[in-house]
Amino acid sequence: MIPHSRPTLGAEEAAAAAETIMSGQIAQGQKVVKFEDNFASFLGLQRAVAVNSGTSALHLALLALGTKPGDEIIIPDYVCTALLNAVHYTGAIPVIADVGEADGNLDCRTALRLITPKTRAVIVPHMFGNPCTGISLFKERGVPVVEDCAQSVGAELSGCKVGTLGDLSIFSFYATKVITCGEGGMVASNRPELTATIADLCDYDNRDDYRPRYNYKMTDFQAAMGLVQLARLPDFIQRRREIAQRYDTGLQDLPLRRPGTQSDQQPIYFRYIVQLANPESLQNHLRNHEISAARPVFKPYQLLTETHDCPVSLRLWHESLSLPIYPLLQNAEVDRVIAIIRNYYQKDLHPFKNSSEKTLCNRLRTRQLS
Ligand SMILES: *Cc1c(COP(=O)(O)O)cnc(C)c1O
Repeated sequence: MIPHSRPTLGAEEAAAAAETIMSGQIAQGQKVVKFEDNFASFLGLQRAVAVNSGTSALHLALLALGTKPGDEIIIPDYVCTALLNAVHYTGAIPVIADVGEADGNLDCRTALRLITPKTRAVIVPHMFGNPCTGISLFKERGVPVVEDCAQSVGAELSGCKVGTLGDLSIFSFYATKVITCGEGGMVASNRPELTATIADLCDYDNRDDYRPRYNYKMTDFQAAMGLVQLARLPDFIQRRREIAQRYDTGLQDLPLRRPGTQSDQQPIYFRYIVQLANPESLQNHLRNHEISAARPVFKPYQLLTETHDCPVSLRLWHESLSLPIYPLLQNAEVDRVIAIIRNYYQKDLHPFKNSSEKTLCNRLRTRQLS
């Protein structure tokens, strides 16, 4: 089976984790400090604070911006539920915005209409490894921006790294992400008052004063792995770009659409997404040939909460399929995925020939009209 995703871990990570375990210092210690320092210098930002997940990072970023119950936080519809969870943890109200047709990122221009006097912040994810454009539109309106770089560490917009464009940025080191230490996260910023609040909130012990704090700390053996992974990141990105190029060439004459990339966006291909009318049929065909493909977003919020409609998000969800892409994927495996997809089209298993798919489309259409 060719899995959809796989962490790139090896002897170096194992040795770093083992050394830390043998040292006896396994909770937060000097390795975490070093990981934070290296991460901040990688971004060229003043400070980074390590935490135990991307979700915790989002929660603390919102708290650092002063988010209180009843405030409004703008988030896109087409993303994992971590954002929705973090907003609810603070008691704030999620205000859900649609995404852009081109790349599935938040449509910043139309989201501006959702700003009210209660808007405390917007969370802008850079989805699938592709930088979101339009962050400056929020800054011009005085709305604080939390960049969610969980899928895009190392991607650049006009030569600027994602994570340096907003007020705060968050990262995730979950097993499927670009770099990993099993679970983990980071919050970074150039605003010392924000990172000081975050460092204060994520560690509850030995304090003179009391306020509710969290135990969101990273461990030293996770940080030891993270340090190795961060050093390998440039190689990881180069390999991801090579694989994407190989898919581009191998699939170019097929009737598959691809999310567009503008010249100022330098994506890192966390996901390689193809768009077609019937992704489930191609997904089944790949599965029958021992290849695992997945929807790049499990479900958009509108199908989970039924509180709003975001037509572009729904369409992208309905049409998108994510192919295997990760540094350990061999060229022969990429070629095999390409060959099986070409075989799918030769067999003329064309979009909309499958009747259950037709029914789903009709259901979606009715939903959009109602
Ligand atoms: C994975 C992910 C998160 C959450 O990170 P965890 O470490 O799993 O809590 C948040 N936002 C995006 C865009 C993600 O992909």
